[in-house]
Amino acid sequence: MSETGTQSLTDDIPASGVFDPPAELAAQANVTQADYDRAAEDRLGFWADAAGRLDWTKPWDEVLDWTNPPFAKWFTGGELNVAVNCVDRHVDAGRGETVAYHWVGEPGDTRDITYAQLKDEVCRAANALTSLGVQAGDRVAIYLPMIPEAVVSMLACARIGAVHMVVFGGFSPDALASRVEDAGAKVVITADGGYRRGAPSALKPAVDEALTKVSGVDHVLVVKRTEQDVDWTEGRDQWWHDLVDGQSAEHEAQAFDAEHPLYIMYTSGTTAKPKGILHTSGGYLTQVSWTHWATFDLKRDTDVFWCAADVAWVTGHSYIVYGPLSNGATSVMYEGTPETPHRGRWWEIVQQYKVSILYAAPTVVRTFMKWGAQELEPFDTSTLRVLGSVGEPINPEAWLWYRKNVGGGTATVVDTWWQTETGAHMIAPMPGVTATKPGSAQRAIPGISAAVVDEEGKPIEPGATGYLVLTEPWPAMLRTIWGSDERYVETYWSRYGKDVYFAGDGAKLDEDGDIWLLGRVDDVMNVSGHRISTTEVESALVSHPTVAEAAVVGATDPTTGQGIVAFVILRGDAQDSGEDLVTTLRQHVRKEIGPIASPRQIMVVAELPKTRSGKIMRRLLRDVAENRELGDVSTLTDSSVMDLIGAKMPASS
Ligand code: ATP
Ligand code: MG
Repeated sequence: MSETGTQSLTDDIPASGVFDPPAELAAQANVTQADYDRAAEDRLGFWADAAGRLDWTKPWDEVLDWTNPPFAKWFTGGELNVAVNCVDRHVDAGRGETVAYHWVGEPGDTRDITYAQLKDEVCRAANALTSLGVQAGDRVAIYLPMIPEAVVSMLACARIGAVHMVVFGGFSPDALASRVEDAGAKVVITADGGYRRGAPSALKPAVDEALTKVSGVDHVLVVKRTEQDVDWTEGRDQWWHDLVDGQSAEHEAQAFDAEHPLYIMYTSGTTAKPKGILHTSGGYLTQVSWTHWATFDLKRDTDVFWCAADVAWVTGHSYIVYGPLSNGATSVMYEGTPETPHRGRWWEIVQQYKVSILYAAPTVVRTFMKWGAQELEPFDTSTLRVLGSVGEPINPEAWLWYRKNVGGGTATVVDTWWQTETGAHMIAPMPGVTATKPGSAQRAIPGISAAVVDEEGKPIEPGATGYLVLTEPWPAMLRTIWGSDERYVETYWSRYGKDVYFAGDGAKLDEDGDIWLLGRVDDVMNVSGHRISTTEVESALVSHPTVAEAAVVGATDPTTGQGIVAFVILRGDAQDSGEDLVTTLRQHVRKEIGPIASPRQIMVVAELPKTRSGKIMRRLLRDVAENRELGDVSTLTDSSVMDLIGAKMPASS
């Protein structure tokens, strides 16, 4: 590994332009072409088979009821308990001693939790919630760090039919308050604090403050994690260890209807104010479970899976909790940040637990790129065989870097497109079938129907760009926006009619029919009448050896309508040579895409504004570029970033 970050990796691409599935993987792959064929022939039969991987207390009558679009019902009349499917059934099958989580705390403390232990904990927590008066259908807010109690709390809710609503531990009291209010939560589960970047960071004070702004919360359950001092409201606050630890580990789980609400999750807020997305039980678990097994080619008994997302993001819900547990997998769960206490922390964890499947966001891959491949060298990461990407389009350069330096040049990269709203993977390669292309999520997975259409809703020709839509309902789809069926219909199902889901993302189809995501429709730039995708310009910038990360926005321009403004972060060893660098980068974009895409301004910055889930918030950069007041910043990781960027921005336009 002598990659220094100063050369482009395009030479790694085979002459065919694609990476064939590794022969060994393909020979034993969970998913084959036959699955695509079967799903194409009988989509509902395919999903019925997938649902059959779960334990149902009462079989369903109908796979899909779509008589009242866009309000779908999957597996009507069927009953199951989601928590039992995630925990008890593995214990009952004699796999109680299998580790569900290798949990790693940021300070270095660890806990291995078996399925049997998880079952006891979930039952105790379920009994505890019941003792607080929580009933099926009630909402419970969870505001915790990445500790096992977060998973236990979610499963305890699922077990008793309560609806969980997890909020990022990093969010402000206001952000927490507005979500607690919108969801109508009556209990909040929190902790004294959690560890982030090497220091304890308090959580309980944010809950105390939030609860001065909203009413209806009768109980706050507090996990002791950091031993920080906390204020205490008698009668409302209780320690987790006081209430939960003393409960019985026996709990008789009741089965719930397939359409019983499971959770509310607010979207990342990348393009707008977050929306409360409602997911239900049977269909959600079916698709999450199947995709976790399929997309990652999970071999339950030999793989160690690590989804390095926060549990408070939909990726965490689906692929830290419900997917892996429903499949009886062994996962890693890590509390902290990648650079604590050193930049090799992830690789140390991979080495220690022999992680074989890693699932991460492009933003982290680009951070590793910025730091350089030497950070991986001290560690053995050769166990990694499948590498997932999620959250944003992955730039081809970052994809190649990931495969080469993290995957040892042999691992398969699966770029998974999906949303909070879709609940589970929708467009992704299947590792044993798909010949992969750096930067493309490629094709709809078996059982899913996606299309790229024009303004009128007509499918576009290969080579053209348009809007991504989903043309058939899918099991893990959102059922509504919490509290607003109208907004649900209007946001997703009105642009092209009541049975076509508008995803809000732009996309391109290549000659092979593969899909390339181009970023948000809201972010598409219009320069002198040309529609230009932020993703393409960003990927062009990132393909230059000096650039680790780029964010591009269109700012109002008196002559061209919009002008392209680029913000770039340099790679570790690259120098900011001022105007020379700007000229070089402009020329590079010209060469890669064309003169029309050449940025009007390029600014070198140290950080970019990102959501807690790692997405670049271009709308804030657009606000800066157009000298406007910043929009909703409630989901921003670090608001000081915006001050730094604002200070760099010449007061133009
Ligand atoms: P909001 O809807 O509030 O603006 P958000 O869309 O960022 O927030 P999420 O549901 O977390 O909230 O993100 C889904 C979006 O993330 C997708 O619509 C898409 O734009 C982007 N995305 C996720 N995965 C991929 C991927 N593999 N390739 C390209 N884009 C992706
Ligand atoms: Mg969205």
